[in-house]
Amino acid sequence: MSQTTLVTPSTCCYCGVGCGVLIEHDGEHIHGVTGDPSHPANLGRLCSKGSTLHLTGDLTARGLYPELRLGKGLARARTHWDTALDHAAQVFADTLAEHGPDSVAFYISGQLLTEDYYAFNKLARALVGTNNLDSNSRLCMSSAVVGYKRSFGSDTPPCSYEDIEQSDCLLIAGSNMAYAHPVLFRRLEEAKARRPEMKVIVIDPRRTDTAELADLHLQLQPGSDVALFHGLLHILLWEGWIDRAFIDAHTSGFDELKRTVRDYTPAMVADICGLRVEQLQECARLIGNAPSFLSLWCMGLNQSSNGSGNNTALINLHLATGQIGRTGAGPFSLTGQPNAMGGRETGSLSNLLPGHRDAANPEHRDEVARYWQVGQLPDSPGLTAIELFEAVRDGRIKALWIACTNPAQSVPNQTLVHQALAACPFVVVQEAFFTTETCRYADLLLPAASWGEKEGMVTNSERRISHVRPAVPAPGEARPDWAITADFARRLERHLRPGQPSLFDFTGPAQIFDEFKWLTEGRDLDLTGLSHAVIDEIGPQQWPFPTGAHQGTPRLYADGEFPTADGRARFVAEQYRAPQEKREPRYPLTLNTGRLRDQWHGMSRTGTAARLFGHVEEPILSLHPDDMQRRQLKDNALVRISSRRGSLVLPAKADPSLRPGEAYVPMHWGDRFLKGLGINVLTQPAYDPLSKQPELKLSAVAVEAVTLP
Ligand code: SF4
Repeated sequence: MSQTTLVTPSTCCYCGVGCGVLIEHDGEHIHGVTGDPSHPANLGRLCSKGSTLHLTGDLTARGLYPELRLGKGLARARTHWDTALDHAAQVFADTLAEHGPDSVAFYISGQLLTEDYYAFNKLARALVGTNNLDSNSRLCMSSAVVGYKRSFGSDTPPCSYEDIEQSDCLLIAGSNMAYAHPVLFRRLEEAKARRPEMKVIVIDPRRTDTAELADLHLQLQPGSDVALFHGLLHILLWEGWIDRAFIDAHTSGFDELKRTVRDYTPAMVADICGLRVEQLQECARLIGNAPSFLSLWCMGLNQSSNGSGNNTALINLHLATGQIGRTGAGPFSLTGQPNAMGGRETGSLSNLLPGHRDAANPEHRDEVARYWQVGQLPDSPGLTAIELFEAVRDGRIKALWIACTNPAQSVPNQTLVHQALAACPFVVVQEAFFTTETCRYADLLLPAASWGEKEGMVTNSERRISHVRPAVPAPGEARPDWAITADFARRLERHLRPGQPSLFDFTGPAQIFDEFKWLTEGRDLDLTGLSHAVIDEIGPQQWPFPTGAHQGTPRLYADGEFPTADGRARFVAEQYRAPQEKREPRYPLTLNTGRLRDQWHGMSRTGTAARLFGHVEEPILSLHPDDMQRRQLKDNALVRISSRRGSLVLPAKADPSLRPGEAYVPMHWGDRFLKGLGINVLTQPAYDPLSKQPELKLSAVAVEAVTLP
C-alpha cells in the first residue's frame, strides 16, 4: 500500500454473509479490497468475489447520464436529470389520474441499501397509494419470512454466525454454502477441523462441494423436503428423542402435528425421497442425540411451490427437540442478497410495511400512516413478482419503475417477462450498469451510484447491521438510489399534493435511517438505539437494539417466549405436496438451477472481471452419466434443453454428482451472453401459495442432441 492510499471500511455488496471490507483508494479510484479483520461476520476473510470487487469498476458498463426516449422503437438520447424526472413525474401523474394507483408498480432489489428501500416504500405507499412494490427478494427468501411468521409469530431468524462454529450437529438443507456463502462455509470448515466431533448433515439432490464436508449426505429427490422432515420427526417421536418439557411449556399445536407425521413412516418417506430407511434413521439419531442442533437453509427450500411448508417443517424439528434459543442451536435461514433483511425491515415486499408490519393489517396501516402524517395507506393487496409481470403483460400495469435488478434475466418464464416489458407503456430503469437485459426495455434509464460510491445500512443473515460507506465519487452524473427516488417523489408531489409540505425532504442516509428507525420502536426488530453514528462508534450490531442498549442481541428466544398471542411457538402441520411440474415422457428430466462460486446473479458486476471466469467460463448443462449415455452424448456435445416455456442450446457434460433423471445448469447467464432468452426461459412461474415465491429449483425438461448443419 503506497503512502497516498486511503482506506475506507465498508461492506461487501454481494451476498448475505455481509463481510466487512477495507477499500483501498486514492479518493478517485478504488485500487484494492481486503477483508476487515474487525468485522464480526468475516474477521478478515473474503471470498473470490469480495476480494476482486476493485476489478469490477469497468466504466464502459456503467450508466453515466440519464437517457430518455419519447416513443417505443425510438432510440434513447442523453438528457438532463431535471428533464428526465419531470417527464417521469408527468407520466406517473397522468397514469394515476386516468387509471388509479394500482396501475403503476415498483420492482426493486435486495441489493438496495436500507435507506433506498425506505424511500421507495414511502413513495409507493404514502404518495402513490399502492402496495404494488415488490422486490427480487420475492425470488429469494419470502418463504423463510412466511415460515418464521407462522412458527414464531414474527420474522426473526434467531441465531448468530458464532452458533455455526459452536453447534454439535449442523444440518444444511438446500444450500451450497461453499459457493453461495463462501466465507461462512470457511468458518464452518475451520470449526469442524478444530472440533472433528461436530457432525454435519447435508440435504441436497446434488453432491455439492458443501456435501463433501458432510458426515451424512442425504441426496434426496428434489422437492421432497417436507416428507423428509416429517419422516425425521416420526422417528424422533418413536425413539423418544424429543423434549417434552419444552414442547409443553413453550409450544402449541403438537398433537395435530403428531397426528400428521404418524403417517410419514420411514418406509414411505424413504420411497418419496429416494433414500434408504437407514439413512433416515441415522439422520434422526444425529439430531436426536446432539447436545446442540442447528439448521441452515437457503434457496433449495425457499424456491419451491411448497417453500413455506419446507420452512415450517424444518422449524418443527427444532421446536420438538427444544433446540432453539441456546448456543449452537436453532433454525437459521441464510439470505442470498446483501440486504434482503433490510428489505424485510423496511417492508419492501408487497405484503409488508415498515417495521415488520403487514399491509393487510388495518392497525399496522394506521400506525404507519400516522407516522408519515398521511390520511391512510392503501388496503388493496399488492402484486408479488410473478403476479406483477403477468399484470404488466396483461396491460393492467401502465407504468413500471425497476431499480437495481434485472428481471429480464432473473424472473422465471422469461418469454412472458420480455413480452411484458416490451408491451408496458412506460418503463423506468434505475440502474448502475446499463448493460443488463432489462435496460434494453427502458423508456427512461437513470444512472445509479454503486458499491464504493454510496452510503447506507445493510443487514446480513444474522440480523447484523453494518455501515456501507463511499470511497470514491460516482461516475458521470450517477446518483445514490435514495436521492433519485426522493427527487422523483418531490416532483410527483407537485401533481398529487400541491402546496403541501414534502414527505421527502431527506438530507442524506443518516437522516433517512433516523426517520425509519422510529417505525421499529417497540417492535421485534427495535432499531431505535442505532444510528449511523452509533454503528461508526461501536461497530456492526445485531438487532433488536432498542434505545438505551449498549450492544446488540446475538440470540433470540433464550427465555422460550415467542411473539405470538399466547407466547408459544406454533407447530405447523402441513402435508407434503409433490412439486408442480412432474417428469413425464415428453419432459423426462428435472432441471435445477443454482449459483457458481465466482459469479453473482445476472453478472452485471462480476461479468466485468475476467478473472472471475477462470473458475467456469460458460454455462454447461450437467447430466448424470447414465442420462448422457442414454442419449449417446459425449462431454461438450451441444444439446437442446426444452421446457414447456422455451428452449436453449448449451454444451452438456456428464456429472456423477447428480441423481439420474436430474439436470443442473448455473443460473447466471442471460440473453446478452446466450442466444435465446437466457437460462430462465426454461424455469417455471409456479409459486408457493403463501409466500408467492416461485419454484425456480424445479422444472421438467427434455434434452436432445443438436445436429449441426
Ligand atoms: Fe462478499 Fe459474500 Fe464473499 Fe463475503 S462471502 S466476500 S459477503 S460474496
